[in-house]
Amino acid sequence: MSRARIRLHCPKCKSKSFELYEAFEEIEIREVVDGWLPKERLDHEAGGRLSVSCRCSNCDHKWQLRAAGLAALDVAEENLN
Ligand SMILES: [Zn+2]
Repeated sequence: MSRARIRLHCPKCKSKSFELYEAFEEIEIREVVDGWLPKERLDHEAGGRLSVSCRCSNCDHKWQLRAAGLAALDVAEENLN
């Protein structure tokens, strides 16, 4: 298992154990030919990150990551590679 230290903790109880929920934009692609919309999608593409929220494993507190939290997540992600 590859893992990296992440500098985040629960703002309520300071626990460093939590679930991370990352929401991403998903783009579905359909080809309209001569004005006909097909039911079938040709492909899916992952879009940008929409939001990240967390749920504390210790006290169940839920919070959303803002700029500083997202930066900490990005740093940890880079350290995974
Ligand atoms: Zn907590």
